[in-house]
Amino acid sequence: MLEKVVIANRGEIALRILRACKELGIKTVAIHSTADRDLMHVRLADEAVCIGPAPSPQSYLNIPAIIAAAEVTDSTGIHPGYGFLAENADFAERAEQSGFAFIGPKADTIRLMGDKVSAIEAMQKAGVPTVPGSDGELPEDSEEVLAIGRRIGYPVIIKAAAGGGGRGMRVVHNEAHLLNAIYVTKAEAKAAFGDDTVYMEKFLENPRHVEVQVLSDGQGNAIHLYDRDCSLQRRHQKVVEEAPAPHLDPEARAQVLQSCVDACLEINYRGAGTFEFLYENGRFYFIEMNTRVQVEHPVSEMVTGVDIVKEQLRIASGLPLTIKQEDIKLNGHAVECRINAEDPVTFMPSPGKITHFHAPGGIGVRVDSHLYSGYSVPPHYDSLIAKLITYGDSREVALRRMEIALDEMLIDGIKCNIPLHQDIVRDANFAEGGVNIHYLEKKLGLD
Ligand code: ADP
Repeated sequence: MLEKVVIANRGEIALRILRACKELGIKTVAIHSTADRDLMHVRLADEAVCIGPAPSPQSYLNIPAIIAAAEVTDSTGIHPGYGFLAENADFAERAEQSGFAFIGPKADTIRLMGDKVSAIEAMQKAGVPTVPGSDGELPEDSEEVLAIGRRIGYPVIIKAAAGGGGRGMRVVHNEAHLLNAIYVTKAEAKAAFGDDTVYMEKFLENPRHVEVQVLSDGQGNAIHLYDRDCSLQRRHQKVVEEAPAPHLDPEARAQVLQSCVDACLEINYRGAGTFEFLYENGRFYFIEMNTRVQVEHPVSEMVTGVDIVKEQLRIASGLPLTIKQEDIKLNGHAVECRINAEDPVTFMPSPGKITHFHAPGGIGVRVDSHLYSGYSVPPHYDSLIAKLITYGDSREVALRRMEIALDEMLIDGIKCNIPLHQDIVRDANFAEGGVNIHYLEKKLGLD
């Protein structure tokens, strides 16, 4: 087992990783910016190292500073969490070259999955269903491009191979706009990502977002932890997630779960990962793979009983997976609300001092949060301040517990989006299950 791990992140996920390390008897090193001295996990870690000023390029994205912190503390592994450097192949490579276990996949795998064209090719090879499209980079020749558009059928979406975070995409509704849209997307991709490779996909009009959680040890063992539905989104940001995804076609679901396991074995995947799909009319379409732990991982933990972060640490320690697929029993239902420090109506960030914090409790309630009364939310980072997760035998029970927990939760001193969640959990269509990715924005009158 790894002896000492640098937690190269902040906020709730840093605390989540710290707890898993403690359970496994792994020593912890918190690295933090000058703005984050008062973070809960910094207080609880065995050691803490300030690696730079508040702006993340100088701290949480500062690769030499993080490697140096790992070296001076004699650490043996680095956990990147999510966001920041979690999917940065150069960071993974530098960490491993410097002798630290990177708690995630190999750098080459991150590169393969970071380029959407190569990711789709790898998935097709493994039998994962993808969106009908150009099957690779678009050719230069206009006639060929127009022919691809006709074959796929409009609307189509032009996507940058290097795109991410919802950027580098353009929907095209008819042939007249195709060539210009490609031209513009290429120019934007070149400017934003330094790579103007673009490809074309069928644009699905009313899909759901359904994803599959996997664990794979890179030693020939892989399992899935079933699916999650994360269709409630605003500006491509997930707001509420749940596991399992409700009302899926059972046959298509079984096939896709198996194909994700096959893909892990095919690419010799190491670590925890997520295959993201669009789901429409009973069919799955792969869009991308996330090669890290995700914000919404707790809902899968609640319904499978598997501690995903502990498994990440075990895998990075070189241990083979001991859980077998047949050991994974799907039990009950879990929902997660992302509590953000933001105005519930305008969505403007609302950093500042939390004068009073009260976490809800009771059976089936889990709060993953670094908050405490007196803590000041700094303005420099993501606005996620807590994840409220509820669990129940059924989806109905989990949702009812969420309603109660949201009413109990108190975060005073700053604005947060609890009122938005209170509105969502009382929404009749959401209660039915299976709304599509446009539902929340429509409900909010934002589309
Ligand atoms: P990113 O890496 O930027 O998150 P994704 O490929 O995951 O990019 O796509 C982000 C979002 O864009 C998806 O969640 C979905 O809402 C939308 N999208 C992407 N591809 C398609 C498609 N073929 N049809 C419809 N919507 C799409």
